[in-house]
Amino acid sequence: MLAGLSLSSVAQDYQQWPVPAQLDNEMCYSPKSTHFSVWSPMAKSASVYIYKNDEAGCKPKVVKLRKMSDGTWQADVKGNWHGYYYDFRVMLQGDKEERLHSPGIFVKMVGTNGKRGYVADMSETNPEGWESDKRPPMKSFADMIVYELHHRDFSMDTESGMKNSGKFLALTEENTVTSDSLASGLSHLKELGVTHIQILPSYDYGSVDESKPDVPQYNWGYDPMNYNVPEGSYATTTADPTARVREFKQMVMACHKAGIRVILDVVYNHTYNTTNSPLELTAPGYFYRKNADGTWANGSGCGNETASERPAYRQFIIESVRHWAEEYHIDGFRFDLMGIHDIETMNEVRKALDEIDPTIYVGGEGWAASSPLYDDAKLAMKSNAYLMPGISVFGDEMRDGLRGGWQNDAEGAFLVGEPGNEESVKFGIVGAIEHPQIDYSKVNYSKVPWALQPTQMISYVSCHDDMCIADRIKSTAPKASRDEQISLFCMAQTAVFTSQGIPFIFAGDEMMRNKKGVHNSFESPDSINTIPWHQKKEYKVAFDYVRGLIQLRKEHPAFRLGNADEVRKHLAFLPVGEKNVIAYKISGHAGGDSAEELIVVLNSNKKTVELELDNKEYTILAMENRIDLSGKIGTCLGGKVRVPAQTAMILKF
Ligand code: CA
Repeated sequence: MLAGLSLSSVAQDYQQWPVPAQLDNEMCYSPKSTHFSVWSPMAKSASVYIYKNDEAGCKPKVVKLRKMSDGTWQADVKGNWHGYYYDFRVMLQGDKEERLHSPGIFVKMVGTNGKRGYVADMSETNPEGWESDKRPPMKSFADMIVYELHHRDFSMDTESGMKNSGKFLALTEENTVTSDSLASGLSHLKELGVTHIQILPSYDYGSVDESKPDVPQYNWGYDPMNYNVPEGSYATTTADPTARVREFKQMVMACHKAGIRVILDVVYNHTYNTTNSPLELTAPGYFYRKNADGTWANGSGCGNETASERPAYRQFIIESVRHWAEEYHIDGFRFDLMGIHDIETMNEVRKALDEIDPTIYVGGEGWAASSPLYDDAKLAMKSNAYLMPGISVFGDEMRDGLRGGWQNDAEGAFLVGEPGNEESVKFGIVGAIEHPQIDYSKVNYSKVPWALQPTQMISYVSCHDDMCIADRIKSTAPKASRDEQISLFCMAQTAVFTSQGIPFIFAGDEMMRNKKGVHNSFESPDSINTIPWHQKKEYKVAFDYVRGLIQLRKEHPAFRLGNADEVRKHLAFLPVGEKNVIAYKISGHAGGDSAEELIVVLNSNKKTVELELDNKEYTILAMENRIDLSGKIGTCLGGKVRVPAQTAMILKF
């Protein structure tokens, strides 16, 4: 309170800032006039600049805006401005000149590189048939199977069979095939059986220059510019600002038609620019947390962190997810570094989406890159997940319990037979809930369960971050043969897909894609990031296995109970005589399953182990990297069951 007094007063000031009822109405077009509005409560003047085109040298018409009591500046500009571009400039008390141009904080259509807004009506962007587009049916979050993809990873390979390489439209192409005549693209996803795709940032981000579509550029896109507009580099053109919007909708509609829901990766926790971001240009000092010395707080590790606890930013996030859910029919949201946001905001997001459709998914990363500048007890961290019902969090306990810690790519864990990781894997199998048979003191990261319900945990072994699983297996088991690598992969995915959490797979892992050992490929070239589709044939065993696991999960509700009490009642870990063995049974007609008992065994030892089971005849559903639900693999008799080295086994009675 002594040092940096002026900053404390800034922090207090924002409480007094009026917040308008709506932030998402910065431009409302009609043929007779266009209404402009920008929220800038501390400004002493504000203007809208209207341009005939998107060219840098275009001379604007400048219209002064009038201040309203809710902190917005508005004007109704007579005439038909359809097809024009616009931006705002504001001047604050103490400013010597107007601040830089900004397209506003809630622009919905933009020109190239998102510098200017575009005047048109959103309804013009609807593709044919959009009115009848519907979310595919879904009963429970427990039924989800998430496939995380980047547009370029998915369709840049010349053997992908998709024509719209690296574009939204690639996901609209039907019946495409690889050079080996195997299903690719959307058909591949249908064949695999996933229920959701989770697309890496697809809002307008800053690190790819949209004006150079012929220059190969790659970025994951965790650098937000305009939160409420699709990214231009994934559109066929940015010369027409409606194209990116229309093509995004076409993508959603095609996925829905294929029975697949779409989750958007949203990055409200930080922005690409700070001083020159639209948020800071229109409402300086409001949207970001600042340290006492005046520097930007940086819980994101990307130069700044936003302040979701402040009413206007909380409202912004809620209006933004509503915009995507309603305008674009988006079915779910994955919050990047959700631990930077406050719990109340996340619960408000859940509530707002429940009002639209309670089956819209909300999940996120329950951590930050470093400590956010806010009260720990109020942050949407994994350890606070129990305070956010209906919101899911990535479970890194099982992920690292299987593959090894995220800090060291050479460190192996359960998969390569490192003992001591069993409880971390078991923690993931039950979905991070309380279970009487888990010794939480031996779990790697969490010494207490953090989920109220198992669907609050996302079950995974690999995602876009860190090494993908094939690379990690190579790194931690460098002497493993190709067959052993496949075997360890299948064991990892067995844990993921038979977990009571929400299973999640990184695009291409099902054909054991690699990234040539690159740990952080966020701006690596396509040669590192692209899924090599020829591997679908080469790694048919892996693909068939993952597909089989998905079928298994769909056919047996016992693997997706969706309720913590049910899991505690029906799922029991079996005694095992060896380290590096995990065995569990789900029984008692769990989830109404017709199978009385399902048994899953993971043996990461380099030797066959014996497991004591009831003396009866079991049908083998999975064994030695093969899954067959019809019973063709055969049966085995209880008593002592032999589980081959480095494999998973699934039995049914
Ligand atoms: Ca962009």
